[in-house]
Amino acid sequence: MRKKSSAAPLLAVVGGGAVGLICALAAVDDGWRVRVYDAGPRRRAAQVAGGMLGCLGEARPGEPELLAASARSVAHWPALLRRLGDPSVAAAEHTLLVAGDAADRAYLDEAMTFAREALPAAAVEELSAAALRGLELGVARLPIGGYRLAGEGAVDNRRLLAALRAALTAAGAELVDAHVTDLADVAADEILVAAGVDSGAVLPGGLDGLRGEKGEVLRLRRTAWSVAPPQHVIRARWRGRNVYLVPRADGVVVGATQYEALDGQDRGPQVGGVADLLADACEVYPGLRTYELSEVAAGIRPMSADGLPLVRRVDEGVLVAAGHGRNGIALSPGTARRVRELLGAGAHGERARAHREERSAP
Ligand SMILES: Cc1cc2nc3c(=O)[nH]c(=O)nc-3n(C[C@H](O)[C@H](O)[C@H](O)COP(=O)(O)OP(=O)(O)OC[C@H]3O[C@@H](n4cnc5c(N)ncnc54)[C@H](O)[C@@H]3O)c2cc1C
Repeated sequence: MRKKSSAAPLLAVVGGGAVGLICALAAVDDGWRVRVYDAGPRRRAAQVAGGMLGCLGEARPGEPELLAASARSVAHWPALLRRLGDPSVAAAEHTLLVAGDAADRAYLDEAMTFAREALPAAAVEELSAAALRGLELGVARLPIGGYRLAGEGAVDNRRLLAALRAALTAAGAELVDAHVTDLADVAADEILVAAGVDSGAVLPGGLDGLRGEKGEVLRLRRTAWSVAPPQHVIRARWRGRNVYLVPRADGVVVGATQYEALDGQDRGPQVGGVADLLADACEVYPGLRTYELSEVAAGIRPMSADGLPLVRRVDEGVLVAAGHGRNGIALSPGTARRVRELLGAGAHGERARAHREERSAP
């Protein structure tokens, strides 16, 4: 006769953004009872984000550890998408890097030289302007070439969040609409604080080094007389600025500016940022001029001092997962793995394992 274990341990997750929900799903699958508290979409960077699963496309000379962490995390995305079982979450499979002029080309060359040195097996293919336009006919006649990053895709981040919530509910997790002001009010065996840029405000001792970087994002909807949206994620370095186009079923997400937020509540889109994004996007992909401007938004990226996610135990029974910066959706499965390790090594990990085995026993 199989031995019956006591109740599954309870994990409370404070924050239902990309990090909180992906960690919550990993914990449910590991045998934990899970309750997620969330303050809503207005405070959520994952709501406005572009959804790129960036790795090589995010490569910046001087950030080898972030590149390695991104590569490790992006490798977990196919399994997560299979776990969710909703094919509409995936938005693109590959990325094109596009340079507008010689200086832009030099900028991309430097980034790709760094990426190839750091990740020698990386799938980086150099493209002429003609080859680039052969892959995406809607790209302007002006680019001077770029790169193809095979297998570097994107998700529709809003569909992702909905699919994660559905998967959690189906697995018996509880989703609570609540703004947590004091962790003492949260009864659980373990608490994971994953509240994005607000994580420091939730933790009694704050969180050193966490700050916000604001960014504007536009959503453009295809109309009856519009050209088709691109098939690839297009990341352009265009006359000294970055602009990206991420395909959606009904249009394109255009992003993103990046500058210091005034404070944790500074989510009003600025005219200058929106004007630059529109001008650059329409130069890179002229057919966008016929699209409808359906949404203008701004969000705050939760940045750490060294650019790497802050994932650790901060107190007995309290973990934090924050500071995922400009690439936090892509980095979330990697963070979920680290959180699983921390939870598994804690006092309640053994009970969770016993529950998982009980559930999976024939
Ligand atoms: C303009 C822009 C574009 C981006 N583009 C990309 C991209 O293309 N690819 C990518 O990988 N990343 C992108 N990012 C980064 C990414 O969105 C973030 O790194 C990621 O969302 C961080 O996840 P998170 O769960 O830590 O925080 P969030 O997504 O911000 O979620 C935090 C959640 O915590 C909740 N919360 C806060 N305080 C409390 C509280 N006290 N009680 C309860 N709940 C609380 C909030 O309501 C929110 O739902 C972008 C970000 C921005 C701003």
